[in-house]
Amino acid sequence: MNIKRIAILGSTGSIGRQTLDVIKDSVALEVCALAAGSNSELLAEQTRQFTPEAVALTDIDEAHNLRKVLDEDTPVFSGPDAMTQLVETVRPDILLSGVVGAAGLAPTLAAIKSRATLAIANKETLVMAGAIIMPAVQQAKLNLLPVDSEHSAIFQCLASGKRSDVRRVTITASGGALRDMDDRTAAEATIDQALAHPTWQMGRKITIDSATMMNKALEVIEAHWLFDLSADEIEVVRHDESIVHSYVEYCDGSVIAQLGKPDMTTPIAYALHYPDRAVRQTAPLDLAELRSLNFAPLAPRFRRAVDLGFEVIARGGLAGAVLNGANESAVEAFLDGNIRFGQIVELVETVLKYTPAVDEITLEALVEADRWARGQVTEQIV
Ligand code: NDP
Ligand code: MG
Repeated sequence: MNIKRIAILGSTGSIGRQTLDVIKDSVALEVCALAAGSNSELLAEQTRQFTPEAVALTDIDEAHNLRKVLDEDTPVFSGPDAMTQLVETVRPDILLSGVVGAAGLAPTLAAIKSRATLAIANKETLVMAGAIIMPAVQQAKLNLLPVDSEHSAIFQCLASGKRSDVRRVTITASGGALRDMDDRTAAEATIDQALAHPTWQMGRKITIDSATMMNKALEVIEAHWLFDLSADEIEVVRHDESIVHSYVEYCDGSVIAQLGKPDMTTPIAYALHYPDRAVRQTAPLDLAELRSLNFAPLAPRFRRAVDLGFEVIARGGLAGAVLNGANESAVEAFLDGNIRFGQIVELVETVLKYTPAVDEITLEALVEADRWARGQVTEQIV
């Protein structure tokens, strides 16, 4: 058996830790590289346990601390280009990108250059730069496997028919922590309230995105790029239990859905073992015990956020980079206590309106649009 060498970006985060759990239980996978932002303590522990060929930490001071506690023969890359240097040096078979935000873009492009299979949880990178990532992946004839649960579901549903026979793809949405609050109360929600997700345990940024429903706007754009879907072919529906992860309707009226407990190790294991399926110890999904699954149209406040995703598809150009940069900046401002919860979507909506035009979509133009959008949010706050 060929053991696949996996590099994990964001190994200290929610996706990263669950990826290590999957690898620990699989004889087909091994860790070749680990990277994180600043958590040197946990990265040191993971390095001792999984013995990667090299590691990376973006924070320079913390990387210094890491070097002090690790064996001298484990290279430690540091600084803003650390993840890219790590990927270029280690050349993994699979890059599992579980970093949060646009920081994942450069190392993803490096992995494409080194011809790695991509397993992407880091949706912000696709939202920002799908226009350059997808052609590069296709040109290099690489596999890009979604880790986001909805997109893993769509990927699996699309395997049961021809792309040209797809009528519609429906992405399900739990509604996040504030789903049962009225609009006025939700607009004033505290950080703790917005972080209390009903069905998934995730990092802080995506948990806030779930509460605003910007997560679904990002996922609509992610689906557009991954599966070459137009805005008309994508729908979003509320589904409270997070059991049906998404579904695809074909031209003959057949609807194929993918189901599973809300557990990210399932889509992670699927992406890492693809095209095989790993034999895993999982508790059975007992629908008879659950008795019912609930679905509903999106409430107007959620529709408003999700519609920004459809608007980005319609606008094209730099809109994805602007939406993502503005959203990252607004979420950070909320988590720092500088804006109210209700301002997050308002700010993104306003900045998106002024998206600069561009003749050609280049990496430089996308990076500049991201920087511009963050600056616009900061300007509007002060
Ligand atoms: P976490 O906040 O839990 O983890 C983020 C990871 O990225 C940490 O390892 C962190 O390192 C690292 N990181 C953050 N910023 C940088 C940086 N500038 N340079 C290098 N490393 C950095 O996030 P999640 O695991 O929840 O989410 C990761 C991605 O996966 C996001 O894009 C999210 O949308 C997506 N996703 C997550 C799901 C989930 O269930 N968690 C589900 C579907 C998608 P450190 O710990 O040192 O700060
Ligand atoms: Mg998702």
